[in-house]
Amino acid sequence: MKDTAKHQGLRNQLAELLAQKGITDQNVLAAIRKIPRHLFLNSSFEDYAYQDKAFPIGAGQTISQPYTVAFQSQLLEVKKDHKVLEIGTGSGYQTAVLFHLGAKVYSVERQNELFKQTSALLPKLGIRAKHLSFGDGYKGLPNHAPFDSIIVTAGAPIIPQALMAQLKVGGRLVIPLGETHQVMTLLVRKNETQFEKHEFGEFRFVPLLENKN
Ligand code: SAH
Repeated sequence: MKDTAKHQGLRNQLAELLAQKGITDQNVLAAIRKIPRHLFLNSSFEDYAYQDKAFPIGAGQTISQPYTVAFQSQLLEVKKDHKVLEIGTGSGYQTAVLFHLGAKVYSVERQNELFKQTSALLPKLGIRAKHLSFGDGYKGLPNHAPFDSIIVTAGAPIIPQALMAQLKVGGRLVIPLGETHQVMTLLVRKNETQFEKHEFGEFRFVPLLENKN
């Protein structure tokens, strides 16, 4: 598949729509204008790729809706060279947004099929994640901790303790919390023991699964 002027036009429209919906971070909007979302989807979705919708990506999972990706990315307040941990690589689209924001991205995926597919795709698109791994995101990546920020891209019933422990003081953890629907939640680590919690309304995600099949 190619990236054409038509795709670029659709991306510009998508960024415009996200700005109307309240996304104000210009770096996030620039990433949306830049990343060829249609290349993260099966070619049968090419005509729909720039709609503000989630789509199936295989293994019963979905690529997150662009508004959700932009909203979570904005909450992370990524600075150049921040170490960012993503739980739920999926299609790699959110990974690509983080990369374009200047982050050193570490990402974990528990579906082997998606892990393999996305590990092969990202380098082809010039997206250099620092570390992609196959495993259970509930555990985070203790060997690479601490992180400036952590983003969870699946609906979590609880905040995994391991993720809180792997956040730097001053760091931000963005996680959709809840079983049937999720409340977008931001934790800011104040010191060794205290976290400040902020909530940002409801979103819908596929579940963050514990390590069982
Ligand atoms: N950021 C992705 C979102 C994919 S959906 C994108 O936009 O494409 C959420 C992803 O989280 C799925 O790929 C799912 O397999 C993965 N996931 C669910 N539970 C997980 C866990 N415990 N550890 C790591 N990944 C998990």
